Amino acid sequence: MKHGFRIFDSHTHIGTARHSGRSYSADELLRDMDRYGIDRSLVIPFPVVESVREAHELIGRAVLAHPDRLSGSACIHPYIPEPEFRDEVRRCREVYGFRALKLQPQYHGLNPFSKASNFLFEAALENKMAVVCHTGSGLPFSLPSLLMMPARRYPELTIIAAHCGGAMFVHDAMLAAVFCPNIVLELSSLMPNSVLEVLAEVPADRLMIGSDLPENLDVEMGKILTLPVADEQKKWILGATACRVFDGACA
Ligand SMILES: [Zn+2]
Repeated sequence: MKHGFRIFDSHTHIGTARHSGRSYSADELLRDMDRYGIDRSLVIPFPVVESVREAHELIGRAVLAHPDRLSGSACIHPYIPEPEFRDEVRRCREVYGFRALKLQPQYHGLNPFSKASNFLFEAALENKMAVVCHTGSGLPFSLPSLLMMPARRYPELTIIAAHCGGAMFVHDAMLAAVFCPNIVLELSSLMPNSVLEVLAEVPADRLMIGSDLPENLDVEMGKILTLPVADEQKKWILGATACRVFDGACA
């Protein structure tokens, strides 16, 4: 709780990242959450890891040990055999109660627009997960508007555009959200002026905060807390949207 708001950080990672060399533990995450007054975090594997299964087990153990603070997300390289992909998504849901499935087109090379990616969105839907998709850096497959195709194919599925397209493609992300009511925008890396532009077109109950990395926590939380908008809008962005999207995570 910070300044009277319940805070749900919808974008964090623990584990060891092969692409960046970064390492961050569950204990460090919980320590930083306490420091910044964050009530709950969605914890996602880094996009490139030594073992996906071990990355899920690390997050799963943390989620089971701290069910009141952490929710889990799976992240699986999509070009493994499809039955293995589907089995691992199901295992994450059944064993650890994960609430989301992450696609990282920058490192996974999967085009969300293509029917060839249907299996990923179907696996999420079958396991009552939302899909979190990185957007922004890593074109062309990380263009936010590509998410409009799966959003239209699977209207019951919630798709989160992580980073809201970044500074360069924020309007592309806004278009996707305006035309697809099941697309939600996660605002990490946007400057406050861009967040206000987004809020002018997309309701606050489809926007959510995310830090991505611990160094960003102060800035990402502060930029929403200090926005010149109504507390009701801040309430949704800071936590209520994520509670709704990651169904049951805040029960
Ligand atoms: Zn991330």
